[in-house]
Amino acid sequence: MNDCLFCRIAAGEIPSSTLYEDEDLRVILDINPTSVGHALILPKDHASSLLDYPASKLGHVFEVAQKVGQAMQQSLGCEGINVVANCGEVAGQTVDHFHVHVIPRYQDKTKDRFVLEHGSIDPVDFNQIVQTLQEGLKND
Ligand code: AMP
Ligand code: ZN
Repeated sequence: MNDCLFCRIAAGEIPSSTLYEDEDLRVILDINPTSVGHALILPKDHASSLLDYPASKLGHVFEVAQKVGQAMQQSLGCEGINVVANCGEVAGQTVDHFHVHVIPRYQDKTKDRFVLEHGSIDPVDFNQIVQTLQEGLKND
């Protein structure tokens, strides 16, 4: 038996609060939400993260993220959303099955905002990183 939690939820073997479902995806409500309405898009086929999910299927995942975000705006009245895919433990991934968070954000709940910490970088290092990544992208 497949012991991946999100495979089993996506397949309907474990009951979930399904908001939307199609052939490829199931969208559920997160049980420990960051904000009211926090949803998760779960592909039905297993991939451990965005990084090994078939590129040809990613478009559909993001179409559904858009659809969910629009529904959140209309039905929950949120003013914004975050769309997030954590890849790897160091990035905060706790369930090793690719999923996309769609998190509604509300104007009056500023403390809940997703904030990236910004730093500074030496221009030489900056240029070196640009080159390294440009090379990396060529090899793909
Ligand atoms: P991540 O930390 O990006 O791997 O996100 C995993 C998310 O799954 C967290 O936000 C959890 O609250 C959520 N989660 C874990 N188990 C369940 C479950 N059984 N049903 C719904 N959401 C879950
Ligand atoms: Zn899985």
